[in-house]
Amino acid sequence: MDLAVLLKCPVCNAVRALDGRRSEYSKQDLYARVKTHLRGHDLNEPKMAIRKYGIVSDATEIVIPSENYQQLPIEEWTERDDTWLPDGSLSGGEGSLSAPESSVEISSR
Ligand SMILES: [Zn+2]
Repeated sequence: MDLAVLLKCPVCNAVRALDGRRSEYSKQDLYARVKTHLRGHDLNEPKMAIRKYGIVSDATEIVIPSENYQQLPIEEWTERDDTWLPDGSLSGGEGSLSAPESSVEISSR
């Protein structure tokens, strides 16, 4: 099994996988990659900033079988429909019954 970090562009639905763990990348690293992509979209500065932060905070670490690893869009941003991704790797799909990020415990005082 291998690990990758998955980024998804909300503007064009492209996805990009980064080799390794989420913790290996600083936010600045991720911002830099996202920014490069967002330059291709004609966004003004505030919009670009909002998208950039959104993409980075949505970045998810995925576990993938080694045999599927080279099918990931590691090299460049790729249209989501044109690439292979493991089931349930993008939020909003089936299989995300217990969304860990949206269920914040409020009970702690
Ligand atoms: Zn895009």
